[in-house]
Amino acid sequence: MIQLYQPLNFMGMVYREIKQGVVDIEKMFDVLLKNPEVKDLPGAKPLAVQNGTVTFEDVRFAYDPNRPILKGLSFEVPAGKTVAIVGPSGAGKSTISRLLFRLYDVSGGRILIDGQDIRQVTQTSLRAAIGMVPQDTVLFNDTIRYNIRYGRWDASDAEVEEAARTAQIDAFIKASPKGYETEVGERGLKLSGGEKQRVAIARTILKAPPILVLDEATSALDSHTEREIQDALERVSRNRTSLVIAHRLSTIVGADEILVVDQGRIVERGRHGQLLAANGLYASMWNRQREAQEAREKLALIGDDE
Ligand code: ATP
Repeated sequence: MIQLYQPLNFMGMVYREIKQGVVDIEKMFDVLLKNPEVKDLPGAKPLAVQNGTVTFEDVRFAYDPNRPILKGLSFEVPAGKTVAIVGPSGAGKSTISRLLFRLYDVSGGRILIDGQDIRQVTQTSLRAAIGMVPQDTVLFNDTIRYNIRYGRWDASDAEVEEAARTAQIDAFIKASPKGYETEVGERGLKLSGGEKQRVAIARTILKAPPILVLDEATSALDSHTEREIQDALERVSRNRTSLVIAHRLSTIVGADEILVVDQGRIVERGRHGQLLAANGLYASMWNRQREAQEAREKLALIGDDE
């Protein structure tokens, strides 16, 4: 009996080590995702965040030198405010968030956080200051609790659950087979795009960064899910400097400033009401999205009748 028990015990130890290894592999993954061309300058200092003002000064960028994507973008996200970026597909919206996270270096102009050029600070300190809610969140093959705790490893169970409540994902988790211990990811419970995005929001709540970048998922959501995500986003972005890359205009009506980007340039800017009154690109995008939403809702009603 003892003989059998020993190897099992050993296996348990190995399993724990492998699991620990998984965490390290994830860190390695983060490193692999980095662009080798983006390097810390010799003697780079950590970013000193005072209040988290983000400034883009005449930013230019091209993935391929023959095809400019951003052609001189200037704007500021004042501390604690929300600026939204909208525009047609391929306009360069997500590129703006990648540049702020310094996945690439700008080809011209500069990006500043509290007056510091992001090329002159360490990448580690820059990324610690920014919470990214990407379009498509990667879930690990582990429990939902583990997936939320990824935002801050030393968070307590109570903090994980509090973050889930704020992110409006708590009711979904409680209704899952094993609650917070439910396995998710490839081999476990599959989550919809909206649910994954709420897991990402919960992670960001735990991380509590001074600056937030939300890259909204492109997929159309039903109005109920959209409302829940909207509430979660409002809570997480309150009093934080937030840059929102928006695909659904209904999510950014309350933004402090909306920038309309087309072909790498800001073509309109202002608050929702001002842009509607201007009757330009934003107003036409708004009308198109409203009509599409109304058509979807009509179809859903017909579906309910049948
Ligand atoms: P969408 O609304 O469809 O998400 P977007 O406005 O966010 O679009 P970006 O993802 O910023 O657009 O892409 C801008 C342009 O840059 C596109 O034409 C795209 O094909 C190109 N692009 C994006 N990523 C890369 C890359 N890694 N290498 C080369 N070109 C890229």
